Amino acid sequence: MQELNLLKNPFETFRVADELRREAVGDSVTFVVNRNINFTDICVNRCRFCSFRNKRKYLLSLEEIRKKVKEAVDYGCTEVCIQGGLYPEADLNFYLSILDAVREVSKKIHIHAFSPMEILHASINSRMHVEDVLKELKAAGLNSIPGTAAEILDDEIRRKICPEKLTTSQWVGIIKMAHRLGVPTTATMMYGHIEGWEHRIKHILLIRQIQEETGGFTEFIPLPFMWKNNDLGRIAKGSSGFDDLLVTAVSRILLHPLIKNIQASWVKLGIKLAQAMLYVGANDIGGTLMEENISRAAGSTSGEFLRVEELKELIRRAGRVPRQRDTLYNILD
Ligand code: SF4
Repeated sequence: MQELNLLKNPFETFRVADELRREAVGDSVTFVVNRNINFTDICVNRCRFCSFRNKRKYLLSLEEIRKKVKEAVDYGCTEVCIQGGLYPEADLNFYLSILDAVREVSKKIHIHAFSPMEILHASINSRMHVEDVLKELKAAGLNSIPGTAAEILDDEIRRKICPEKLTTSQWVGIIKMAHRLGVPTTATMMYGHIEGWEHRIKHILLIRQIQEETGGFTEFIPLPFMWKNNDLGRIAKGSSGFDDLLVTAVSRILLHPLIKNIQASWVKLGIKLAQAMLYVGANDIGGTLMEENISRAAGSTSGEFLRVEELKELIRRAGRVPRQRDTLYNILD
């Protein structure tokens, strides 16, 4: 694989990635004012890297969801990011009721919700085709989809870390279908467990290929594996900071110029490493979040809420210009 050459001289790879970032998006660093809502931790799957599943065994009521959306709107959020475990009986109507609850509070707020795994779960429980599920969700106000549940898009690795999760081709199929229906998505990759560089590169090139075909990805988010409180953490202790830098740099180079936005997730990386990422290819720092349950359960100590001023300050302290964006990367300030 000739892409492996990028690993031979990491500092040259960092330099090229930084240059391509500047060429693609300039010196601004974007962030989104959003709120995470994880509506349940009850889940029928047993992914080995998951520290979130069945911890508290909660399911938010629609009233609680409305309350959280109201708080988000009051804070000035432009987006709610809604994901949860695979609640056993969750069918299409279950997911539609969440969208309705959000829309009762705000017609305007961008709803970024339901991973491809949740969409497949809804389609199985409702005995409906994925395309019809997506159409109904879109009609009910779904604006975009998180490209989570991708983990590593390699079935051999998936069988070992999340055997019940959707396969690579199912993930790709749902993402492409969403793009075709005019529902954009993000793309993610969870690395730093049992995969090797060849899997990471294969994953990134697959994302590139999809983007070439559909143009529906808004950003790429490399997510380091968090190893605490989960089964996989017994054999894999996560990536090093240097590895994190290299994954971001390689992602920038391999996705250039098709995907312009590479996110450094402050909640997973911690603030200082997220700042360093801005010099090896990243141009976005993620969102305010307001609450974060998934990484926290897996040992993240970065906190779960950065206020707008704090996000701006962390970007400024890294020597860059903060710009508020919406989910689709329109600049708002
Ligand atoms: S990662 Fe998601 S699908 Fe897997 S066990 Fe955790 S909540 Fe369930």
